[in-house]
Amino acid sequence: CFVAFEGGEGAGKSTQSQRLREWLEADGYDVVLTREPGATEVGAKLRTIVLDPATGDISPRTEALLYAADKAEHVDRVVAPALARGAVVVTDRYVDSTLAYQGAGRALVDREVERIARWATDDLRPNLTVLLDLPPQQGLTRFVERDRIEAESVDFHERVRDGFVHLAGNAPEHYLVVDARRPVDEIAEEIRHRLRPLLDH
Ligand code: C5P
Repeated sequence: CFVAFEGGEGAGKSTQSQRLREWLEADGYDVVLTREPGATEVGAKLRTIVLDPATGDISPRTEALLYAADKAEHVDRVVAPALARGAVVVTDRYVDSTLAYQGAGRALVDREVERIARWATDDLRPNLTVLLDLPPQQGLTRFVERDRIEAESVDFHERVRDGFVHLAGNAPEHYLVVDARRPVDEIAEEIRHRLRPLLDH
């Protein structure tokens, strides 16, 4: 079973993905909790390139390709092998982040960004994507700007948020959209409830 957490900055993806891991492990599942970008050795280097403010400007297509390279490495080395041995894989960000940030955010052509991301991931799709939805103004105030992307305009982050919501709306059966302003425990419970019937897939 493959679960992805998606959403903007400060929406609680890492908190909720860790909560989910704890719950699954307590239930006896073999769980791999991973993230994008940066879960592999090559990915960690790519993460530095794309997120270090010292990198300066990157052409949007270059940026999309760097994220795609991170994804290919992630899927080939971490996600696919774990799924093959029967583990539950929980990832903090996946293809939707690319469609939202590099597609909607950078205004690249959606279809092309999607083609690259699908190729990079060998079209491996999550059984469930949890979208933690939050108005960007709220997420961005949770911490000082940390990286190149968080330093983008609120407009950019609004486009990203709309991108995420649009993706979920196109395939509601594969998504759980949660208002990330709700209490952490309540959200965790809703995620477990939705995921339970999907386990063992
Ligand atoms: O989720 P995390 O904080 O690790 O993400 C790191 C940064 O990478 C965030 O600022 C996020 O906006 C950015 N990002 C991106 N495009 C992606 C994935 C992440 O711009 N496809």
